[in-house]
Amino acid sequence: MELITFVVMTDSAKHQGQRRQLVKLLQEKGIKDAKVLAAIGHVPRHLFMDSGLEDYSYADRAYPIAADQTISQPYTVAFQTELLELKKGDCVLEIGTGSGYQTAVLLAYEGIKVYTIERQQELFKNTSLLFKKLSLKPKKFVFGDGYQGLPDAAPFQAIIVTAGAPTVPKPLLEQLAIGGRLVIPVGDKDQIMTRYVRKGAKAFDRKTFGNFRFVPLLKDKN
Ligand code: SAH
Repeated sequence: MELITFVVMTDSAKHQGQRRQLVKLLQEKGIKDAKVLAAIGHVPRHLFMDSGLEDYSYADRAYPIAADQTISQPYTVAFQTELLELKKGDCVLEIGTGSGYQTAVLLAYEGIKVYTIERQQELFKNTSLLFKKLSLKPKKFVFGDGYQGLPDAAPFQAIIVTAGAPTVPKPLLEQLAIGGRLVIPVGDKDQIMTRYVRKGAKAFDRKTFGNFRFVPLLKDKN
């Protein structure tokens, strides 16, 4: 895997040790993909946490970030990333950049192009600055409404939605390449993790993977 270097900010021996523990825990919880585990082991989650919460960075929990949103639980990040079944050369679209943690985990893959969309102005600004500071380079980071996907950059081999979608946005299905995977938590209060695989122009396989809880996927920009 490509080792992106987190240049500016610190990553102490203590953080690294806690991260190894986290990787072990995720393995015990059933994450098998070695590349996913390596990516989690590589990305310093403490650089994506809100200040004051740094001590909790390697607990397997979601935490609040700006604009009433959350940084996803590491298990959820690993689980969704595993379901994407990423391959070298894939173009991946993430809906809901938030803290940028999931984006960084995707960028830790070798040869993957990452596009990501955030609808909250405040998070878009904060996370743009953070990406610059850390020299993290998604192919595109867009301020916009993820319900629309990113038609200009389609098709995608993988699309990941990191907010709870009341319904599956049609544009996202349409922007999948043949063979492409959409991983999306579907539902209102609780969500069912769902994966669509595009088999043909109008043919999709759908499979579900248990219950999760996300902040809602909201329409338009804010
Ligand atoms: N991947 C993020 C998860 C953040 S929570 C992380 O690891 O930190 C979900 C994010 O989805 C929030 O930042 C929220 O503002 C964003 N979001 C909600 N609806 C959206 C939409 N329609 N388009 C793009 N982003 C959206």
